[in-house]
Amino acid sequence: MTSDFEAQLRSVSLRVTRPRLAVLTALHDHPHIDTDTVIGLVRAELPAVSHQAVYDVLRALTDSGLVRRIQPMGATARYESRVGDNHHHVVCRSCGAIADVECAVGHAPCLTASNNHGFVVDEAEVVYWGTCPDCATASTRP
Ligand SMILES: [Zn+2]
Ligand SMILES: [Zn+2]
Repeated sequence: MTSDFEAQLRSVSLRVTRPRLAVLTALHDHPHIDTDTVIGLVRAELPAVSHQAVYDVLRALTDSGLVRRIQPMGATARYESRVGDNHHHVVCRSCGAIADVECAVGHAPCLTASNNHGFVVDEAEVVYWGTCPDCATASTRP
């Protein structure tokens, strides 16, 4: 798996470093985590890495397209390493849990906007809001 991440870094001309590999590993194992969680996971493995270094790695990986930053309205930014497939997210209003949702039908149909106003559209982001199963169960408990 680490060699996959090394290949990914090289494919976008980023130097392979242990903090970058640790961040990619953390996001692969734990999709949709926020910055603090990334820092905790990376420092569990590489205690010498500073908070600032993790921020810098997240920015470099996001800028290069290896990592996607998602920020549901009113929530802290989350990161994931699943990129390039135009998938969507369902978000719990109550606890902020996030899960992946495949594009509704076929190949990215939501890229075909009913009116694109002349824009060249290359990405569509849909956030489905609702209540996760845990929160739904909790709210019906007496
Ligand atoms: Zn919830
Ligand atoms: Zn996702």
